[in-house]
Amino acid sequence: MVEPASLAGVRCRRCVASFFPAVGRCPRCGGTGVETVDLGGEGVVEAVTRIGDEGVAEVRLDSGVLVMGAVDAELVIGARVRYETPDQVMRFVGV
Ligand SMILES: [Zn+2]
Repeated sequence: MVEPASLAGVRCRRCVASFFPAVGRCPRCGGTGVETVDLGGEGVVEAVTRIGDEGVAEVRLDSGVLVMGAVDAELVIGARVRYETPDQVMRFVGV
């Protein structure tokens, strides 16, 4: 079985907020002490916009971080999804 893909982000050592994509400075408190963390690859669709038969969704990862990615258009708010591949386009699929 293939391990589910996960997303690498950063966590601020000062305010402990996590962010994606990885940045060198905390967008919340401005701290520069950030460390790379594994944000996991599963979450829930919070918003979705359909463009033809493709969708773009905001996905709240189980680690609490909100990310955007491509999804299948039939997915709806509340659907559970996982990050599929570290592709050029970030994509989530239903689980
Ligand atoms: Zn911070």
